[in-house]
Amino acid sequence: MSIVPEAERPNPYSAYGAHGSVLVLNSGSSSLKYQLVNPVGGEAIAAGIVERIGETSGGSQGIVTHTFAGNRTRREVEVPDHGEALRLALGLFEEIGPRLADAGIYAVGHRVVHGGSEFSGPVVVDDDVVARIDALVPLAPLHNPANVQGIRVARELLDDVPHVAVFDTAFFSSLPAEAYTYAIDRQVAAEHDVRRYGFHGTSHQYVAGKVARVLGRRVQDLNTIVLHLGNGASASAVSGGVPIDTSMGLTPLEGLVMGTRSGDIDPAVVFHLARNAGMGIDELDRLLNKRSGVLGMAGVNDFRELRRLIDEGDEHAALAFDVYIHRLKKYVGAYAALLGRVDVIAFTAGVGENDTFVRAAVCEGLAGMGIAVDPERNTGAGSGERIISPDWTSTLVMVIPTQEELAIARQCVEAVDGQHPTAAVTSG
Ligand code: ADP
Repeated sequence: MSIVPEAERPNPYSAYGAHGSVLVLNSGSSSLKYQLVNPVGGEAIAAGIVERIGETSGGSQGIVTHTFAGNRTRREVEVPDHGEALRLALGLFEEIGPRLADAGIYAVGHRVVHGGSEFSGPVVVDDDVVARIDALVPLAPLHNPANVQGIRVARELLDDVPHVAVFDTAFFSSLPAEAYTYAIDRQVAAEHDVRRYGFHGTSHQYVAGKVARVLGRRVQDLNTIVLHLGNGASASAVSGGVPIDTSMGLTPLEGLVMGTRSGDIDPAVVFHLARNAGMGIDELDRLLNKRSGVLGMAGVNDFRELRRLIDEGDEHAALAFDVYIHRLKKYVGAYAALLGRVDVIAFTAGVGENDTFVRAAVCEGLAGMGIAVDPERNTGAGSGERIISPDWTSTLVMVIPTQEELAIARQCVEAVDGQHPTAAVTSG
């Protein structure tokens, strides 16, 4: 599908400036999220999600939701595959807006979960890059196949703009060896690429940088613990803008308690269940990734639901919350020890940005470490970047809304401009 003739790119007349807009795609196994972003101004021009891709059996339909200029359009249609999902999304841009030719698409950015050891930054996609991402499927069997599929169909349908892959692992590619090495037989580890990679890197990098900009400080001068608490959750210790450790590992399963993932457990739990519960590898994979975490303990994984259950006196929900907080606190303590001095703890993502109980509970009892949350600042109105610690603490506790799509869009522009240098994109 032709969007912008070669001669007009970058489109200097686009309503969104010289860099036009970037279409950011996030392909999951049964969903395709998209957002059209102005990489300079930072606003989301339009966004949408195609859900239940390939789930046409049993009368279940795919659902497409497209939001533009404050209007939300929802359709139920059959979506057999990712190609059809993207075709539907592109059709909605033409029908409801904005027309992609007017938006001046500068690049298509693809969120890719696993970049292995080879991708340490965004790359402009060509056939070789697709093959290399495909080769990483054994490391991320739950994520990379959908990412590769998304890239393939998007390159076919949007063949006249550059495509850029932005990796969840890239920010953590510079972790020190003592942080990324697992204490197992080194030959087995080397042969099978077993090491910590870390995920949510785009968000951790964006938030650590945003903290510095909000405070008017240099990122080089700050030690920050970033707590990305969404349905998936991860923590990182960032010293001078560089990560020195992170909680997710070979896959996004390690670390914090999450919506549906267990996070850290004794690996022998797997052997025990295989031997005594007759569970196979795939069943164990599903158990720990999809049926564990808050969902496994409390029966719900949305923290609003969890709060409702706790308020109703549900003891499983109360315990799930306590386990979640206990794990988080252990990571805060561990990362404080690694950093030596913590200037900022930054909460981000769905739970981190919205759940006042989680933020208060994580920081409770840490006054001796110079960490506290001010109750009024924590629960006060406001949805932007803000400080929620009292004035006396040595560590600032902040809420920093993550903007993964914007961060991906900016990395796309940098990658494309790196090939063909033009004006730099401002960051904000
Ligand atoms: P992901 O990108 O991993 O799907 P998000 O960062 O969008 O996750 O976070 C989604 C989660 O955020 C929801 O499952 C829910 O638990 C939590 N959440 C969203 N809004 C609120 C809210 N107002 N209060 C408490 N938790 C919330």
